[in-house]
Amino acid sequence: KSQGRNQVCFFRDMTSQGIGKKELYIQNRLVNAVNSQRIQAWYQPIIEASTGACSGVEVLARWHDDELGWIGPATFIPIAESIGLIRELGQQVWLASLAAAESWQRQGLTLSIAVNLSKRQLFTPYFTEKLLEEVSKHQLSPGSIILEVTESVALLDVEHAAERLQELQEAGFRIAIDDFGTGYSSLSQLHEMHVDELKIDISFVRRLNDPRGLSMTQAIINLARALNLKTVAEGVEDEEAATRLRELGVDYLQGYHFAKPMPREDFERWLAQRNK
Ligand code: C2E
Ligand code: CA
Ligand code: CA
Ligand code: CA
Repeated sequence: KSQGRNQVCFFRDMTSQGIGKKELYIQNRLVNAVNSQRIQAWYQPIIEASTGACSGVEVLARWHDDELGWIGPATFIPIAESIGLIRELGQQVWLASLAAAESWQRQGLTLSIAVNLSKRQLFTPYFTEKLLEEVSKHQLSPGSIILEVTESVALLDVEHAAERLQELQEAGFRIAIDDFGTGYSSLSQLHEMHVDELKIDISFVRRLNDPRGLSMTQAIINLARALNLKTVAEGVEDEEAATRLRELGVDYLQGYHFAKPMPREDFERWLAQRNK
């Protein structure tokens, strides 16, 4: 107590009230899963609004533990970030998706690959060079890769993240702002940013039925147009939402209405069926 509030909190965190037995157990299992390369890359289709064609995929990390069952990335990504495991985890997902993309390209399929990046990954030394090297090893071009970063990382320019994004964009990668509209960035910041796409957050897509919600989404789409950015709407769960979004002029649609994230083989089957 004499050391002040933070110390007390830190101490309490180490007991069962803060980071409890269960959390520690999950941490240990996660370290194990990453070390033995058991984090999977799943793929969710992204649909071109005007044609209905599958234009690419978003790559999403998946983890199945023998004891705990499926654990969602909303749980394990923050843990991986907090214990310094996110680079290694991200790398595994990234390499798996490059291998998949190379094979799709060989089959003559043109698909863009959208990968989620954590803040920490952006600050890997020689990050741009490493990505370029791996992309070319797989005979891919950086133009087919979309790097997704959240609004808070990209636009609030934490630790000069913006410079890193500019470097990546100049190397040919496409940059998307994820969960757009949920952060607290200003329009002037967006204007200065090196960005190609805005991903409209699921919370806006949920509110298309209410007139004010609809106007908000329309405003984001208009903003993107003015800045020459593409828009992707995530969380499209029914035809009604898809139709609304098409009418509003969104470029790409993603959501359970089209397909859930799937393991690579399932996605390949899904695509073959669809292209028949
Ligand atoms: P996100 O990047 O916003 O990903 C979209 C999330 O929405 C995914 O959740 C996806 O499964 C879910 N989703 C897609 N369509 C629908 C729909 O129609 N309805 C609903 N309700 N949800 C839908 P998921 O896979 O659980 O991932 C959660 C978050 O974890 C991601 O949010 C992303 O921030 C993070 N994440 C996932 N994989 C990775 C990764 O490899 N690296 C990093 N750094 N973060 C990741
Ligand atoms: Ca994303
Ligand atoms: Ca998102
Ligand atoms: Ca999200």
